[in-house]
Amino acid sequence: NQQILLDNRPQGEASASNFKLVTTDTPALQEGQVLVRHHYLSLDPYMRGRMNESKSYAQPQPLGEVMIGGTVGEVVESRHAKFAAGDKVVGMGGWQEYSVVDGDAPGMLRKVDTTHVPLSHYLGAVGMPGVTAWYGLVKIINPKAGETVVVSAATGAVGSAFAALAKARGCRVVGIAGGPEKCKYAVEELGFDECIDYRVHNDLKTMAKALKDACPNGIDGYFENVGGYILDAVLLRTNAFARIALCGMIAGYDGQPLPMANPALILVNRLKIEGFIVSEHMDVWPEALKELGTLVGTGKLRPRESVAQGIASAPEAFLGLLKGKNFGKQLVKLI
Ligand code: NDP
Repeated sequence: NQQILLDNRPQGEASASNFKLVTTDTPALQEGQVLVRHHYLSLDPYMRGRMNESKSYAQPQPLGEVMIGGTVGEVVESRHAKFAAGDKVVGMGGWQEYSVVDGDAPGMLRKVDTTHVPLSHYLGAVGMPGVTAWYGLVKIINPKAGETVVVSAATGAVGSAFAALAKARGCRVVGIAGGPEKCKYAVEELGFDECIDYRVHNDLKTMAKALKDACPNGIDGYFENVGGYILDAVLLRTNAFARIALCGMIAGYDGQPLPMANPALILVNRLKIEGFIVSEHMDVWPEALKELGTLVGTGKLRPRESVAQGIASAPEAFLGLLKGKNFGKQLVKLI
């Protein structure tokens, strides 16, 4: 069983030398345990926060242990009544090829149906990132039909699900993404009404102008994934009583400061800004997953995936994700 451990913590920018590849034997199963062969590992921006020492909303990843991570795979052996060999499952197996899981541990292992939804999508559109988009849109932004909503990191796992969910509610949906290829894809494949390339509009002034053109009626809802001048530019274009779901600030995950240019706009425009962590809202997951499953099953949400091959490729693929080298949900294929 090849595994990737967190070997040491990053000083500033994360690098491949923070990780270590090791090979171990999988232990024999005890009563109640299940052995899972992972087909895909999910790489997600939150993992960068776990690499730091400081406590955030979650405990840091311990050094010398297998990196935390979502996985999908197949049960190869079971000593738990609810799981049988051949079951397809989603869980938190970590950066490794196999995991031994306690079948009763809450949130650790769940059987999934791959009749209409490919297994890998349970790590993306019909998994944690999809529910994240759903929560921010439905529970925080709560848009009315005809309103304008904006999302940054628009073509990623969360952003692409956000677009499908917002279109289903009759919104005008504007994305912000890096590069012409991603922006073209956002409009042609993901259903965005417009997508702004922040590599072209790379300061507050030009981004604010691009948003004005793309959102002639102003912005009623914003789903924030990035932070920095993009947030500042959106704030300038918000309508009174706009709602902002603060989901991520990836531009600062390697420790870059993200000052806010004009916080007085929160007062002037009477904005609601709410941060959230999707794993603290398990009560909405069934409802959200049902809608996301239907959108994928009916072809209204066709998520794109970036797939790295083999567990040894996980560190580089993860570092690439933090720099926008991924195009869609970043996965590592393990089988
Ligand atoms: P993505 O698939 O969107 O990948 C990350 C993307 O972020 C990159 O592809 C890149 O897209 C963009 N990006 C990276 N650096 C920058 C930068 N400096 N400026 C602008 N854009 C940048 O990842 P996810 O969909 O998994 O996650 C999206 C966001 O949601 C993240 O901020 C993540 O932390 C957050 N999140 C929060 C959760 C919560 O519970 N609050 C749960 C899950 C995710 P591009 O090339 O277009 O710039």
